[in-house]
Amino acid sequence: MAIDVGSMLSLASSLKAATDIAKTMIGLRDETLFQTKAAELVSLIMSANSSALAAQMEQSTLLQEKRALEEKLVKAENWQHEAKRYALREITPGAFVYALKQEMAEGEPFHTICANCYSDHRKTVLQRSDSVHDSCPHCKAQIRARDPQSRQRVGYYPAGSGGDGWMA
Ligand SMILES: [Zn+2]
Repeated sequence: MAIDVGSMLSLASSLKAATDIAKTMIGLRDETLFQTKAAELVSLIMSANSSALAAQMEQSTLLQEKRALEEKLVKAENWQHEAKRYALREITPGAFVYALKQEMAEGEPFHTICANCYSDHRKTVLQRSDSVHDSCPHCKAQIRARDPQSRQRVGYYPAGSGGDGWMA
């Protein structure tokens, strides 16, 4: 959103006009003229008041937008860190997942995350759904996984078998 300085400018010009009128009123002896100037003064003060309110609302909108952007930035930074911990792997022909890099494990066991969700900046750990498939609990993608025996033997895919899991 572009910063709207309109309210601040009209506030300043109302206050300037009100000051000028007040200065004029000091020297006035004519009762009618004094009343007229007093009415003008009141109207200017009311206008200044509404400009001040508008400026306050603009400021609060800007603050909200600033907070939202800060949250977005933190999320983007967190995602960037998470995204770097995984590498795209083809676990069976045509079936892709993002697999945790060993050097980026940070104490987590080896796992893979959903490639669909990854493209939406979401980390969803794939779960076994049956003996041949992993599935994504979020987008429900079904990934054809490797045979269960080799997974069991090494915790995941044996190195050198074409899979890219860590060595046991
Ligand atoms: Zn998914």
